[in-house]
Amino acid sequence: MQRGIGKSIDLPEGLSPFARVAGGLVLALLFCALLLGAASIPFVYEKGSILYKFGADKVFLRAGKVVGISAAVLLLLQLVLSGRIKVLDRIFALNRLYRFHRINAVVLSVLALLHPLLVFAPEDLRSFPLQLQYWPEMLGAVLLILIALLSATALWRIFLEFNFQRWLVFHRGAAFIAVVMLIFHILYGSEVFETGTPRMIVLLTAGAYMSLFLRVKLKPLFARMQPFAVSKVMMAGKDAVMVEVVASGRKTFQYAPGQFVFITFKSGALSGEEHPFTISSSPTRPENLQFTIRCSGDWTSMLTLLRPGEKAYIDGPYGRFSYRLMQGYEEYIMIAGGIGITPMLSMIRHMADCRANVKITLLWSNRTLQDVVYAAELIELERRLSGLRIIHIITRGPDGTSTGDRLNRERLQSGLSGCSREVPAFICGPDRMMQEVRQSLVSMGYHRGRIFTERFGL
Ligand SMILES: Cc1cc2nc3c(=O)[nH]c(=O)nc-3n(C[C@H](O)[C@H](O)[C@H](O)COP(=O)(O)OP(=O)(O)OC[C@H]3O[C@@H](n4cnc5c(N)ncnc54)[C@H](O)[C@@H]3O)c2cc1C
Repeated sequence: MQRGIGKSIDLPEGLSPFARVAGGLVLALLFCALLLGAASIPFVYEKGSILYKFGADKVFLRAGKVVGISAAVLLLLQLVLSGRIKVLDRIFALNRLYRFHRINAVVLSVLALLHPLLVFAPEDLRSFPLQLQYWPEMLGAVLLILIALLSATALWRIFLEFNFQRWLVFHRGAAFIAVVMLIFHILYGSEVFETGTPRMIVLLTAGAYMSLFLRVKLKPLFARMQPFAVSKVMMAGKDAVMVEVVASGRKTFQYAPGQFVFITFKSGALSGEEHPFTISSSPTRPENLQFTIRCSGDWTSMLTLLRPGEKAYIDGPYGRFSYRLMQGYEEYIMIAGGIGITPMLSMIRHMADCRANVKITLLWSNRTLQDVVYAAELIELERRLSGLRIIHIITRGPDGTSTGDRLNRERLQSGLSGCSREVPAFICGPDRMMQEVRQSLVSMGYHRGRIFTERFGL
């Protein structure tokens, strides 16, 4: 439980809505210009293979090259989207970048598949010679299979029952190999890139990609230079554990309430996997970071074995799911499902510490009463923060039967009666619940643009 009044501390500043939109537009335009520039290469630098083709053959070949180059640019973009680049997080938010990453994977896979179909459309493939001198083309075929494998295992990971950590190792390794193969395929498989400016562009792009790759790989090492130490591990409710870490010999850690980090523990009992968790404590106590974690999987179930003094490495903070990263309002709506309470907890604790004069309506759905974490502290927070109203929705009784209470449209309507339709609404919980609540809020007249969701999955 957090007590006392927080100190006045600096929080990371959020970008103004104008700066975010302007920044997003500039980056989108820059990317479109890059893509168009790359796709124009087969028009600007016509080489023999295109020059001596005519009619439909020429159209197919050129289209194949344009599609192939576009797929290559999109493949390189994948690292930019998933590389946890701070400035992109501030503009778009990491969760959204990972969503772009998934959509981009589908688009680039389709383009990569179209590339050989169009390039070889004018050729008689029955007489394609399988000779060593055609290794760049064969490399392209292997690359295509690798891209299809990368996308399929990412999109259907859960269906394929692919363990997340093993999948991550495969995904990162295979993606790097795919990019190396791509560079060789371009440099040696197309006469356009044999010499001159196009070759220089590929070499410079490859250099820039490798620098970004190194930066992403070295980032965890920087986190290791400023370790935290586990200071407390205790149960926070049924199947939920609170882990507290303290900054050891480093500057305090600045974050906005509601943001998350990637954390790795160096512990005798836990593997050194990196996992994302919201900081559930208030930034008014920056020397202590608390995480409230549902023990739902093989790794999280071992967290109770952490011992005080064991090291923790933190990469972050990330995310834009915070009332402090937007313009100030006097009223907020918060809707949580289960452990999705953690970002709300951080925000409410922060508001209470700062004695914020705000109205907050929190609707919190849990399966059973035992799933409610920090029940006593929440009562205390309601006392300290006069504008806070917490409405519990408990869907199952002690015997597991339905209570009949559900976070549906009717419940939202009754719970939010008296709330302004103009205020921001934060939603965090299971995907389906967030989708349904979002739709209900929109149908009730809430602004689509002021409904913020946080997915507990990347
Ligand atoms: C932004 C964000 C904030 C989160 N905040 C909280 C929080 O405050 N409290 C809480 O209890 N949970 C939170 N989670 C969820 C938490 O990260 C997962 O439940 C946890 O990593 C599961 O680990 P596991 O190996 O025990 O479970 P598993 O059963 O092995 O994994 C369950 C699912 O969790 C995801 N997952 C597993 N490992 C990772 C990983 N290393 N990186 C990314 N995703 C992974 C995968 O989608 C996987 O299918 C958050 C997730 C995100 C993305």
